[in-house]
Amino acid sequence: MNRSRSEQFFKEALHFIPGGVNSPVRAFRGVGGTPFFAQSASGCRVWDEDGNPYIDYVCSWGPSILGHADPAILQAIQEAAENGVSFGIPTARELEMAKKISKWVPSIEKVRMTSSGTEATMSAIRLARGFTGRDKIIKFEGCYHGHVDSLLVKAGSGGLTLGQPDSAGIPRALAELTIALPYNDLEAVRRTLELYPGEIAAIILEPVVGNVGLILPLPGYLEGLRELTQKHEVILIFDEVMTGFRLARGGVQELHGISPDLSTFGKVIGGGLPVGAFGGRKEIMDFLAPLGPVYQAGTLSGNPLAMAAGLMQLQLLEERNAFQRLEELGQLLEDRVLATLKRKGAPYVWHRIGSMFSLFFTQGPVRNLKEAMGSDRERFARFFHLLLEEGVYLAPSQFETGFLSLAHGQEEIELTAQAMERALEKVIP
Ligand SMILES: *Cc1c(COP(=O)(O)O)cnc(C)c1O
Repeated sequence: MNRSRSEQFFKEALHFIPGGVNSPVRAFRGVGGTPFFAQSASGCRVWDEDGNPYIDYVCSWGPSILGHADPAILQAIQEAAENGVSFGIPTARELEMAKKISKWVPSIEKVRMTSSGTEATMSAIRLARGFTGRDKIIKFEGCYHGHVDSLLVKAGSGGLTLGQPDSAGIPRALAELTIALPYNDLEAVRRTLELYPGEIAAIILEPVVGNVGLILPLPGYLEGLRELTQKHEVILIFDEVMTGFRLARGGVQELHGISPDLSTFGKVIGGGLPVGAFGGRKEIMDFLAPLGPVYQAGTLSGNPLAMAAGLMQLQLLEERNAFQRLEELGQLLEDRVLATLKRKGAPYVWHRIGSMFSLFFTQGPVRNLKEAMGSDRERFARFFHLLLEEGVYLAPSQFETGFLSLAHGQEEIELTAQAMERALEKVIP
């Protein structure tokens, strides 16, 4: 496959942009080689600058749940833009978005919009600290909550891909306030809460982890966290930036019937435009300025284009019966992939929930970061490049999740399964 234009762009980009990219995982460091440059995208396909098409399982890292360039979303953005692209003044669309989120996610009584998921988690942490008057927080190894100082401790996603789950530049004094525990280990949480009575402000987690590859909560884990946090009066924060409006209308919390105190969102609710949101119990949210003492703000928060795109995306999810359809597509992909994997007898762990999936090359099980790290990353890299050559684009790291969109059809899934079969033939002798 000729990627000479992409290679040229990347070479030049290296001179002007650190690593040639505006977000680290895009640089393909997790799999080697050079990234392709996207020229356009439509439905479930992306075309690179050399005109090569790829069936896309990254979907802009989650937001493009309808597929790329859905005409209804484009129209919503255009109509909004014609009336002005930003005001910094309240708009009706922000109210509509807040009402929609509260309706779809029962734990949300009040919500505030931001421009990224990172801002949402950063603000949720600050709010939890302000509300409780406590400084320490608990997070889990491999959970990624954006590049927030307090949360870039044993984080997943890009840091993990580059072998740097902790970042330089974070003051030790701040990092010491973050306690990172293994995921899926309720005992560790219980012990920590007992060790620091009255000191922990919040527990933040991905209720389904998508930034170590895909890891699911063990039965009773989320329920146990809710019980423990209630007992110790610790704020429970579900980071549903990835899972919200993707796994169900009301996210993982709907699937488990759990009410976290605060939740964070992003990705899908922006329809592909920059967005984030955090919300939850009224009494906590009312601690925010201008009502309360916790300051939080944003010049472009609630941006009209992002609200228009997001509202249209949410409306279409409903109209197109998205969650049922995505589950069917996920099942279809799973059946085909598992048939191949079983035939090969490879060491593998396949995880899927709805439209999210990942394939770890390891004997398993994979219940936490440590077990995920046991995967054969070299094998994944070869698998990734073989698929790329066949026009199938998975996220360029063992530690990311695959996404299906409503634009993926039976035909593309079949093509993908066949490409995977050929790739597996080569990577598993
Ligand atoms: C992507 C992601 C974030 C960060 O969102 P950005 O918009 O990239 O800042 C936070 N939490 C989770 C779970 C995510 O997947």
